Amino acid sequence: MTTVDTRAVHAGRDDLAALGVHAPPIDLSTTNPLPSVTDGGDAYEALATGGTLPTGGSAVYQRLWNPTVARFETALAELEGTTDAVAFASGMAALTAALLAATRDGHRHIVAVRPLYGGTDHVLATGLLGTTVTWARPAEIRAAVRPDTALVVAETPANPTLDLVDIAALADAAGDVPLLVDNTVATPVLQQPARHGAALVLHSATKSIGGHGDVLAGAVACDAEWASRLRQVRALTGAILHPLGAYLLHRGLQTLPVRVRAQQAGAEKLAAWLADHPAVAQVHHPSRHDPAGLVGRQMSGTGSLLAIEVRGGAPAAATVAGACRLITHAVSLGGVDTLIQHPASLTHRPVEGDAKPAGGLLRISVGLEDPEDLRADLAQALARVV
Ligand SMILES: *Cc1c(COP(=O)(O)O)cnc(C)c1O
Repeated sequence: MTTVDTRAVHAGRDDLAALGVHAPPIDLSTTNPLPSVTDGGDAYEALATGGTLPTGGSAVYQRLWNPTVARFETALAELEGTTDAVAFASGMAALTAALLAATRDGHRHIVAVRPLYGGTDHVLATGLLGTTVTWARPAEIRAAVRPDTALVVAETPANPTLDLVDIAALADAAGDVPLLVDNTVATPVLQQPARHGAALVLHSATKSIGGHGDVLAGAVACDAEWASRLRQVRALTGAILHPLGAYLLHRGLQTLPVRVRAQQAGAEKLAAWLADHPAVAQVHHPSRHDPAGLVGRQMSGTGSLLAIEVRGGAPAAATVAGACRLITHAVSLGGVDTLIQHPASLTHRPVEGDAKPAGGLLRISVGLEDPEDLRADLAQALARVV
């Protein structure tokens, strides 16, 4: 078995040499010629009910199937160690499809472990998709699962505190209830949740997989049965990824291992330096806090996302975020450039009550800049609040 580095470069490209090309073709067709009414009807029927493209069949219509999107899906599934992946127009579209696919036959109850990405928290807390939620700590999952529970939802490392959750223990506690793990922060380079028992692996591909801040996308890696349900939801709700985005994500996968490790090395250096800074009360990064010893066992590295709690609460955090020069004040994460943001005001604004991130918390997504230049920028920004 080749390593993730090799697979990232070659996945989803096996047929290119036979096609006589080196880069994957991009198919932008929204509609496709149909050889006959019967063939078109058969393909339509298959794709609209979650099936795959019949051999030699027509894709019929882009909302049902697109070969450029399918290539990216093949590549992502290979990296996640799943048979399938289904790509969507955003991470939230992917989560929506997962919730719709999971909540059938009167099963509408979700058990979720906080903290989660703010948008995920918001969808579950509002019950917008007809679900109800019980928030539980990992140790409370077994007790929280009910006969009508459709899904257990967790994120590790969690956004924005970088808490790590033991996926295998969670899958065990969930029993027969499928487990969805948001793997956006770790990426398949550092962690493959399906290998630890997750049925559904969610990605905001907008983040590290795209890596350059120019594609909005999501995906779910899973087995063939889940993929069929997800494709049906995608076909009927119109949430498919655009093929140009799929092309860029497929290209992004080739450099993902190199980017993730380089960004992680920068994050580890910054985390160590920030821990000794007088303006910083606490640093959140798996390199600093891993009580269950999951780095090395579940995750092969610590990742590029970190958070700091600055002394002086929200006003001090606002000063620091506003004073950064090289580092951009913006939401999102996992890209080649370093971003800083205040979760309580931005990404986690809708999160209710005690679950809301601390006022002094700033999340930093470390990019590919020289860590020394990032340190200098943070030093001048933090100097304003010492
Ligand atoms: C950004 C993000 C999402 C949502 O993805 P979009 O592509 O913005 O819709 C979900 N989970 C995590 C961890 C994220 O960072």
